[in-house]
Amino acid sequence: MKKKWAKLPPTIMIVQMKEFIKNLKTPIAIVGMGKSGEAARRLLLLAGYKPESVLTFDGKLESAHFRDPQALMAQGAPRTLVVSPGVPLASPWIQEAHKTGVTITSEISLACATLETEKLIGVTGSVGKSTTVSILGAGLHAFSQTGFVGGNLGTPFADYAADVLEKKRPRADWVILELSSYQLENCDGLKLEYSAITYFTSNHLERYDNLEHYYKTKWKILSLTKNALLLNREGGDLVEYFNKNGSAHQIQVISRKDPSVADLHLEKAELIGQHNQDNLALASSLALAAGWPASAIEGMKSFKGLAHRLESVGTFKGVRFINDSKATAMDSVLIAATAAHDTLQRAGKLWLLLGGRDKNLPWQDLKPLEGLQNTEFVFFGECRQIAQNKSTLPGKSYLSMQDAMEFVLSQAKPADTVLLSPGGTSLDAFKSFEDRGDVFKEIVREFAR
Ligand code: ADP
Repeated sequence: MKKKWAKLPPTIMIVQMKEFIKNLKTPIAIVGMGKSGEAARRLLLLAGYKPESVLTFDGKLESAHFRDPQALMAQGAPRTLVVSPGVPLASPWIQEAHKTGVTITSEISLACATLETEKLIGVTGSVGKSTTVSILGAGLHAFSQTGFVGGNLGTPFADYAADVLEKKRPRADWVILELSSYQLENCDGLKLEYSAITYFTSNHLERYDNLEHYYKTKWKILSLTKNALLLNREGGDLVEYFNKNGSAHQIQVISRKDPSVADLHLEKAELIGQHNQDNLALASSLALAAGWPASAIEGMKSFKGLAHRLESVGTFKGVRFINDSKATAMDSVLIAATAAHDTLQRAGKLWLLLGGRDKNLPWQDLKPLEGLQNTEFVFFGECRQIAQNKSTLPGKSYLSMQDAMEFVLSQAKPADTVLLSPGGTSLDAFKSFEDRGDVFKEIVREFAR
């Protein structure tokens, strides 16, 4: 596959990108003032734009210059829009602006315009992005003093770029970016040495017309990749999508059973769950492809997992607690339940807490859990009834997670496992999935006292 940028010698490409950030048409409006928008603003000011030529727009934020798109376009008259991933590019007013010649760009593109020698690896997927990126980060930090890990997870890429420009940090040898499909929609200038897709499943359909459109957006990562795109063989609809959409020489399908992966003895890793073996297989294969040293693989194996993603909270009074508050896709719940069940102590029972807020999720996909021996289901939150009706799973149902936990803790015996892998989002009763997971952990700490 020929790529326009691949034809350019690297020095010319750098110059062109630098010209891009220097010559944006003003006024510039940053659309969406979350972390990514703030980072974009910081970078633009460092690039020399005057504060008065950088407008801010946010539908919800009092402090933004504009909260209404019509007012922004009429009064602010921006000639460049830096659109944050939280704002759909398909919004009619953004499309309209594009038609009238307004430049549409993103925080990622601005950051890319400042790169010099960094080599980039990008990871996308419906689930498993943060885990795979963090495993890669653990591997990178085992040998690199300068590596950067961020993007959709943690520090925005433009903050990295701004830190480099302000000499607060050295340039990274390797940059690992978590890329959401929203970021992939708007990332001109992004060039990856290597990339990976972790999983394809029907999550996040609320922003896409259909599944095909959603998968196609993620698949765009291939066109940004120079050397190799690695796919997780166990990644839901991923391999089927690849088979249907033709072949490309850069694509490699990775299985934890491949001899090159089996030789790494990833089963000795700290992370539990078969899906994490897949994430480890993908991350370590990227490391091998990128020529990272053996210490990187060892670093990956010692990685203990991310908070709220199948996070081991500990075993107290003989009861093991696992916080998987991040799980808001049915596949994630199925996988977490299987991982916890597979590692149950003999005679132990699994208590699975399900619920939260519905986003038209296919709860019926949880029906196979009915077959899990020694498992009790406990429903909670706004969607408890929908979840139970659609899944047809038996079990008690409580208004809040706290009430559900009170019941579970009164019943749980030594050797049991309590797993919060709710399926629904946290927004019925919590600020975020982190908040929900923290409340779960606090309840566990109370129990342990
Ligand atoms: P993302 O960043 O893509 O949202 P995370 O890495 O945070 O994904 O994982 C979210 C949840 O997805 C995990 O708690 C787990 O249940 C599930 N998950 C993670 N990796 C995989 C995988 N390789 N296959 C299937 N499910 C996975």
